[in-house]
This record gives sequence, structure tokens and C-alpha cells, in this order.
Amino acid sequence: AVISTRRPAWIEISASAIAQNIATVRELTGTHHFIAIVKANAYGHGLAQVVTAAKQANVDGFGVATIDEGIWLRQYGVMEPIFILGVTPADYVDDLVAHQLIPVVTSEAWLDAVSCKLSRQATLVLSIGVDTGMGRIGIRHQEELQRVVEKINQNDQLILKGIGMHFATADEKDQTYYQQQVKTWHKLVDNLPLPSNIWYHLANSATSLWHEQPSHDAIRVGAAMYGFNPSGKEITTDKLTPALSLKAELVHVKKVAAGTAISYGATYTTTQPEWIGTLPLGYADGYARQLQGMYGLLPDGRHVEMIGRIAMDQMMVRLPEDMPIGTVITLVGKVGQEEITLAGLADHLNTIPYEVATSLSTRLPRKLV
Ligand code: PLP
Repeated sequence: AVISTRRPAWIEISASAIAQNIATVRELTGTHHFIAIVKANAYGHGLAQVVTAAKQANVDGFGVATIDEGIWLRQYGVMEPIFILGVTPADYVDDLVAHQLIPVVTSEAWLDAVSCKLSRQATLVLSIGVDTGMGRIGIRHQEELQRVVEKINQNDQLILKGIGMHFATADEKDQTYYQQQVKTWHKLVDNLPLPSNIWYHLANSATSLWHEQPSHDAIRVGAAMYGFNPSGKEITTDKLTPALSLKAELVHVKKVAAGTAISYGATYTTTQPEWIGTLPLGYADGYARQLQGMYGLLPDGRHVEMIGRIAMDQMMVRLPEDMPIGTVITLVGKVGQEEITLAGLADHLNTIPYEVATSLSTRLPRKLV
């Protein structure tokens, strides 16, 4: 892929916001280990930038979705434990060993397949995934869990580093299902013959923010570290600072007469003489086409509306007056008292901030500020 660096449209990631959010969550939970979840290009925030900031904040481990993301982290110089949250096909066991990545044991069959393919003298570090009600991956039955733990305990080449689960509804006010998952966890895990030094990692952001901690050992946190609310509007928090800003400079400014159509489909026509600015980013950068009608912020905090269809790489804003080329428009972030959040965009798009953030394409340069 072509990496853009010479582009007047970019993402800024605040290292101090990330550090502050990590400190806040650490304090709230009293956790011993903070596992920073950086899958999907660090939720679209930029892997290198977020990993640098998280390392400065002394996180204890990282979580990714795929083996390639894990290898990238090792090549970037990450020495901390790296948990792969998704299923790693057994064929890649040599890569797991070579890069000391921690896959999740999702079934006895997976463990058997991996054990078979493990070279003699290699050691593989593992974390067991327990499915207490998420219904995605992991072991659901006590007998299978027992056998998996025994097989790991009896095999010198296998080292258990952790055991975890994932909550499906920690971001909702109704705690019924959440409590059911906690109960199932205890039923399945409490009597297992587990080594004493492993990490119990259960909580995601929503659990960390809003629940009595099911374990003080380790947490796996993404959203809260980035400073967006994992619950959207269901439960609110004022404890987090958004780390991401999306900005672009005006690259073209013109005055048009009343009755002038703007962009594809000519869906917007001026009703009076208007100043129109063009921004050099579009839906291919993750600023969704459905955000037509959304607004950005001028350097003095005034709102400017996106008018006409958002194109692949460009979009137009209605300006209150003539403005110089190079004027910075904030599309996500804070200007004075005015703020556009990922949650705000998500609302407009009828989705969640996670999806808005992970849609921001790698074509946008990321800067750690
Ligand atoms: N743990 C697992 C297994 C996940 O899949 C995720 C993210 O989806 C997380 C932790 C982090 O979740 P959050 O960003 O809500 O903290």
C-alpha cells in the first residue's frame, strides 16, 4: 500500500490523553496488569503511535487480534507479553514460538493440533479462552477445560500464562446477563488445577469502568485507553479524555453565485452567494459518505457544514466568509469549548465509535502529539 505522509489531512494522537486514561482505569480497577488492546491498527488510531504512548505509560502487555499484528509489535521492539485474542490456525505454531506470542486456547482440539505441530524443544506460551456467554470463541464445558489444563500441565513444552473470558453486555445498564457470565466463570474456573502465577484477564473497558472488578489481576482495555465511551449513550462517563483528533486543511476556497450545485449528484445547491471550501479527504479515508450534513470546527470554534456528497478523497464545506488556503478544520476533536467526538459521528451514522475509529484508513498520516 502507498503510505501517505505529504498530505494536509491527518490524525493527531495525544500521548498525554492515553497516559491519563490508562492511569484513570488503573486507579478505578486497582488492576495489577494492564493489557493495552491495540488490534486493528490500534482501533484506527495508529499502531506505532499508540504503542509508543502505551509503553511510555508502562502498560504490562498488549492484545492484538491476529498473529501478523503480534509479529509487527515484536518487530517494533515490544518486549511485553502479547496476547492474540482471535483464533490462530495451528499451522502458524512456529511463528508463535519464534516471536513468543501468546495464542488463545479455544478448544481441546486446537490444543491437540498445536501440540502435534510443535517442534521438539520449542516452548509455546498459552492463554486459555473460556466462553461464559459471549458465544464467540473459547471453551464452554468444565470437562474439556479440565482436560486442557491437565494436558498443558503435563507437557513441558507448553507454558500457561493466562486464562480469560469476554463480557457481552458490560456496557449495558441491565446487569442480569453480566452477572450470569461472572457466575459461569466461577463455576468453570474456580476448581481448575491452574499454575499460581498466571494472569486472570476478564475485564474489557466497560467492565473496568462500571462494574465491581471480577479480578484484580489483569484487564484488557481498548476503548477507555483511547478515551471513548464503550457504551455509546447507554451509560456515560466523564473520566476519559479522547486521544484522537482528525484534522484537514482547506486546499481550495471559492465564492459561488446563488444556484450553484456542489459535488456528485448535485444534491446541494446554494441559495445565495456562498464561500465554499474543499477538504482533501473523503470516504476512502474513513469519513463516511453518510456524514454529509455533519459539521467541522473552524480554528475559532465556529461550525462549518459538510455540503454535497462526500467523495472518495475530497469533500466540501460551507464557509462563513473567505478563508485562506491552509485553514485547519477539525473533523474530530476539541477546539476551545467545542468538541466533535467519535461517539458524535457514530450517532450520526447509527453505529458505535469503535466502527468509526477503525474505519479511519491507513492513508491518513498519524502524528503523536
Ligand atoms: N478483549 C477482547 C477479547 C476483545 O475482543 C476486545 C475488543 O473488542 C477487548 C478485550 C477490548 O474491548 P474494549 O475496547 O471495549 O475495552
